[in-house]
Amino acid sequence: MIAEVIVDVMSSEVDRVFDYDIPSSLCDLKVGYRVLVPFGNRKIEGYVVGIKDSTDCPKDKLKSVISTLDDFPVILEELISLMHYMKSSLYLRLIDGIRLAVPNQIRSNVKDKIERIITLDETKAEDFLKTVSKRQKNAPLAIRYLNDFPEVNYTKLASLFGNQTINKLIDVGVLVEKKRKINRLKLGEKSNTRKELTSLQLNAVDKILQSKERPIVLFGVTGSGKTEVYMNVIEKCLLDGKTALMLVPEISLTPQMVKVFSSRFGADVAVLHSALSAGEKHDEWLRIYNGEAKIVVGARSAIFAPINNLGVIIIDEEHDGSYISDSNPRYFTHEIAEFRARYHNCPLVLGSATPSIETFYKAKTGVYNLVEMPVRVNKQPMPNIEIIDMCREFKLGNTSMLSATMLEKLQEVVDNKKQAILFINRRGFSSYLMCRECSYIPKCTECDANLVFHKTDNVLKCHYCGKKFKPLTKCPECGSDSIKLGAIGTQQIVEQLENRFPDVDIFRLDNDSVTSKDAYSRILGQFAESKPSILVGTQMVTKGHDFPSVTFVGVVDADISLFNYSYKASETTFQLMTQVSGRAGRSEDTGYVVLQTYVPKNPVYLTCANYDYLKFYDKEINLRETTKFPPFARIVRVLLTSEDDNLAKDSTHKLIVKLKEFRIKYGKDFFFLEAMKSPVSKIKNKHRYQIILRFSNEIVDSVLKEIYDILDEIKNNKLSVFVENNPTSLS
Ligand code: ADP
Ligand code: ZN
Ligand code: ZN
Repeated sequence: MIAEVIVDVMSSEVDRVFDYDIPSSLCDLKVGYRVLVPFGNRKIEGYVVGIKDSTDCPKDKLKSVISTLDDFPVILEELISLMHYMKSSLYLRLIDGIRLAVPNQIRSNVKDKIERIITLDETKAEDFLKTVSKRQKNAPLAIRYLNDFPEVNYTKLASLFGNQTINKLIDVGVLVEKKRKINRLKLGEKSNTRKELTSLQLNAVDKILQSKERPIVLFGVTGSGKTEVYMNVIEKCLLDGKTALMLVPEISLTPQMVKVFSSRFGADVAVLHSALSAGEKHDEWLRIYNGEAKIVVGARSAIFAPINNLGVIIIDEEHDGSYISDSNPRYFTHEIAEFRARYHNCPLVLGSATPSIETFYKAKTGVYNLVEMPVRVNKQPMPNIEIIDMCREFKLGNTSMLSATMLEKLQEVVDNKKQAILFINRRGFSSYLMCRECSYIPKCTECDANLVFHKTDNVLKCHYCGKKFKPLTKCPECGSDSIKLGAIGTQQIVEQLENRFPDVDIFRLDNDSVTSKDAYSRILGQFAESKPSILVGTQMVTKGHDFPSVTFVGVVDADISLFNYSYKASETTFQLMTQVSGRAGRSEDTGYVVLQTYVPKNPVYLTCANYDYLKFYDKEINLRETTKFPPFARIVRVLLTSEDDNLAKDSTHKLIVKLKEFRIKYGKDFFFLEAMKSPVSKIKNKHRYQIILRFSNEIVDSVLKEIYDILDEIKNNKLSVFVENNPTSLS
């Protein structure tokens, strides 16, 4: 028999299937095994992705599999088909896919954690007690102890009665030692948290369970009880003997979700996210693989969990940017989820209070199903959102970053001994220049996109076409020379607040203060304990928190995400503002939100302040249609990287010449095509060039196929090529 093997080499050149003979000693080798194979004059790891009777490879060239590396197949057959699908649709290397399916912690053979458990042999213990000498005090005590607690950890017992005593008792057979595998990750106890569902929730559960033929969007306002719906759907799946996959955005949300899920489902839950230790990941992965855990709760990469027999896949806060992997391997979680849901013929739920424009468009046009929950479970009103015009504030002489209203509201919070959250909209967004008098922002003359300020080169650059402009010193609209760089630091705000409110506890939550795995929970824990207090932070403060005493939320610089160059800028801003506002007034006190902006009339803020997602959606979808952006077009970025600058440049040139040919062929279906140096022109000594294409949906399949074919020709072991569909970042 012949094994088809993918070798574990991160190179596009050898990213295909190689045939190896299966020796009779390995006759029960199966698909999915990790194996050792000869490759050139080395021995390397590989993965068996197929088994067949014969090969075209000549007999004298055919080598044999050397051995297997684990005693079970590490990749499910489903995930092998997924790898092939990802290669053909996303131009991912098979080996990249395999690395997603088989995490490091499995490949590097992290060991199980074994606990030594001591039990008592009662008959021997009785005999022993009859003959024991008076001087031996500890041994009878240890035996008595084990009469009360039948199973005790060795370390604990030894610390109580001494190593020597315990070892001796084991030697004579009075104590018996067993080895037991233990889970490194400790989850909370199961408790009864079940709630009687509202009629809207019951309806949602029904619709979801019926929606097997296509994904379903659960469009429910914050506080409408989506989590409760998810848990009821999962319960039904478990009753049917099936499993469930529940994805939540990045690490920040996971501890809370995990708590909610483990108190409902106990040990049926396994958790997968990047903040786990290697040992924890290893244990959780195996619990899922072995079928011990039936529910996986995790962040993006958990979509590749080795789970069988899926009954539902849920993507909570489906609009969240963390579902897009924007570095190699690049993929969009929803696409992977759709593949797995089709494979298992199970529902895929996309839940959000502010669905992404593309998702909602699919729901509106019947590609997805839709179920809505438009009211909060507790019938509480949403917090009032007040929009503050920062241009006006500046004209009135307030040059600081906090408006008079913001400071008044903070004073109220302090007087009432409540809590406030201030959001600095910074991480992950580029910086821009703006006029403080009239809020003019420089745009690209070619693309209608906001320009990005590159501080080191002191230029303004368009990230869609690469065109450069001189930074402003004077506003072309109103002549003012108050030009401001739109990016504020958390530290600056904290200092200002400390001066203003010297007796109030002020906490900071951003990438600089959250340096360790535990810092995040520690800071939030301290904040929860102190009143009055103010929490200042970046995107981290916007997600999932449920602090009942937070009555006020202030957004210091709403515009940063609005003026980002991405075509998703308005959408992201609407989502962020809605989400952060949802942190205020979650218990009996009504919440209040202040949103500082230089463009108070912008429809994004006006619709957001009215919680009018549908109106926002209508405006945005019209704009996308007229300007030909997704979902009405496809944007593709091809990224070419190499340590050899000339090679990368020449290959980019070759590619653009070919692409220009089929620009002619497709004519008006092609909206845009340009080659340029990437905004981040070098990473880890690799020079980066990119080609950006934008074209109509009608020609997506054929254009992609042609691009992939050309890439197959030009890539080599010195040049890597990557393809991204509708990228959100072009850096
Ligand atoms: P969402 O995820 O839609 O923002 P949650 O699921 O967090 O909303 O629910 C908001 C709050 O309402 C939570 O505290 C939850 O425990 C509570 N809740 C949800 N469903 C019910 C229900 N049927 N009866 C009572 N309380 C509920
Ligand atoms: Zn101006
Ligand atoms: Zn441009």
